[in-house]
Amino acid sequence: MRHVVVLGGSIAGLTAARVLSQASVRVTIVEPDGHSGGLRNGVPQRQQLHALLDMGRTQLDRMFPRLTRDLVADGASLASGEEIEMYTAGARKFGVPGNELVGVTRELLEGHVRRRVSAEKHVTTVRGKACGLEFTGPRVSGIRYREPDSGVVRELQADAVVDAMGRSSRLSAWLEEHGWQAPPLERMRIDLGYATAQIRRGEDRRGLKIVHAVPDATASIAELGDTGALAAVENT
Ligand SMILES: Cc1cc2nc3c(=O)[nH]c(=O)nc-3n(C[C@H](O)[C@H](O)[C@H](O)COP(=O)(O)OP(=O)(O)OC[C@H]3O[C@@H](n4cnc5c(N)ncnc54)[C@H](O)[C@@H]3O)c2cc1C
Repeated sequence: MRHVVVLGGSIAGLTAARVLSQASVRVTIVEPDGHSGGLRNGVPQRQQLHALLDMGRTQLDRMFPRLTRDLVADGASLASGEEIEMYTAGARKFGVPGNELVGVTRELLEGHVRRRVSAEKHVTTVRGKACGLEFTGPRVSGIRYREPDSGVVRELQADAVVDAMGRSSRLSAWLEEHGWQAPPLERMRIDLGYATAQIRRGEDRRGLKIVHAVPDATASIAELGDTGALAAVENT
């Protein structure tokens, strides 16, 4: 593979680009959202609470050395031991020794990951919304994308294409249009909504950084309403 196109420039797309570029593959990320600061429309959950659990944090540090250190230097909150409280059905769980969680806003986390990936010499990003695949015989040989401002449709050739378009991906439909069977899709309604607010911690709660409370595994949908979480993030 000499050139890979990654569709979607959020967490999955950026980390895929990182892995590919480390194998000296030339990578082009196609992403419709601009990101000169502020929140991106392509990630509707961006304003909801985000935190990194220990394994996510560890894996991101493995891909992007010292990422946790840099996030904390920018105000993210690293929590361990008594700074974390986890509850199931109202009962406090034992802490996991050595567990370190990061309370961080989505913009700060994604911004750091994007800066690291953009600095990779093999990675380029173009602004565009992917709108289809190109084929040579039976294999995918490129993609089409629409430029957001001009509406012009352009093509990019690729030896491989990575779908990192999240929930709005139309990849299955594109493959079906070209004669492949779409994978079965099953949707499950869960009748659950969520809301996030930023609040300022009182001085007496400075030692508490992450709280997570869920009902037990047998809870009904109605009882899932009792789920909640708090995470100290930058400037709170
Ligand atoms: C309420 C909520 C809270 C969450 N909290 C946490 C948390 O605390 N910790 C955690 O680790 N995870 C959390 N998550 C999960 C996390 O947000 C997702 O796992 C993560 O964003 C998935 O990343 P992704 O790159 O696959 O997709 P997304 O982040 O959804 O990104 C998809 C990207 O594809 C782009 N795109 C879409 N269509 C096209 C197209 N046609 N062409 C090109 N690009 C396209 C979009 O613009 C977007 O940038 C939470 C999710 C929700 C809903």
